[in-house]
Amino acid sequence: MRISMTPTATADDVEHLVRALQAAGCEPHVRHTAQRTVVAAIGGDIGDVSALAGVEQITPLTKPYKLASAELTSGEQTVLEIGDQRIGAGHFALIAGPCTVESREQLLVTADVVRDGGATMLRGGAYKPRTSPYSFQGLGLEGLALLAAAKARTGLPIVTELLDVRDIDAVMEVADVVQIGARNMQNYALLTEIGRTRTPVMIKRGLAATLEELLMASEYVLKGGNEAVILCERGIRTFETAYRFTLDLTAIPVLKSLTHLPVIVDPSHAAGRRDLVQPLSLAAAAAGADGIMVEVHPDPEHAVCDGPQALHTEEFSEFAALVERAAALAGKELVAA
Ligand code: PEP
Ligand code: MN
Repeated sequence: MRISMTPTATADDVEHLVRALQAAGCEPHVRHTAQRTVVAAIGGDIGDVSALAGVEQITPLTKPYKLASAELTSGEQTVLEIGDQRIGAGHFALIAGPCTVESREQLLVTADVVRDGGATMLRGGAYKPRTSPYSFQGLGLEGLALLAAAKARTGLPIVTELLDVRDIDAVMEVADVVQIGARNMQNYALLTEIGRTRTPVMIKRGLAATLEELLMASEYVLKGGNEAVILCERGIRTFETAYRFTLDLTAIPVLKSLTHLPVIVDPSHAAGRRDLVQPLSLAAAAAGADGIMVEVHPDPEHAVCDGPQALHTEEFSEFAALVERAAALAGKELVAA
């Protein structure tokens, strides 16, 4: 159930309600929105709390993803603060960088170019989920140190992947946004552990995951008290073989109607081809995505991984300017870092 408090409800009123819900065997989650405080009561029978001080209205949360649901916030969208950047509602994020951190030079050159071109965050994997165990697996701690150097140099917040719960402390030290890759979307132990932190997390949709499964994955993080979740559409498996994955653009407006969480799109992994990245990015931004994440490399022909889908550093600023215009069509503003 969703219990909304009156605008004048005090912190004591909220605490009293929380204790009453706990006594009734419910799990209460308090959320402060711009307008008012809302308490989600999960499980159990909430008993008679309607007469408690400060309680305004009690409505059911009908979806299985209670905390991710748009019902919880009555349609108000979540805005996350990441460094001095924002994402959600009218704030658009442009996340760019290499697939994987390869060397100091490769990362710093790319970081400078994407910062100057208008990116709001820098991406780059130090731990890589690779289909083949014989492929490059990432530079690990060395990669994280290079990401820290790139952040110190450019001021860009860092988005980087956590593959294994054993690396959580090292990754959290550098990451402003922890990426959970498509292959780990249903790694519930990992999601639960991230729910215990307060570091923003981006969850990528699994290769064959439904939107409800993606939202349930986010619920694992939200349940732990970490409210800073971003969802990422990155293409799904279909019968089509002309490109790597099918970018599900319909997921953008549908997710926006189901959840208050920011929704971004990764056209690079969907396309698998550089020439498709720009049209897909523009379509996603115009369709109302809260951000785009793209791969960029100074020498894609010699990239260690995902070279064919990486934008050349030289083409990034023109690309960013077009994305900014497409985002504006959907009423979103890209404010460079
Ligand atoms: C990535 O973003 O580098 C990545 C591996 O993506 P995905 O998990 O979507 O395949
Ligand atoms: Mn990649």
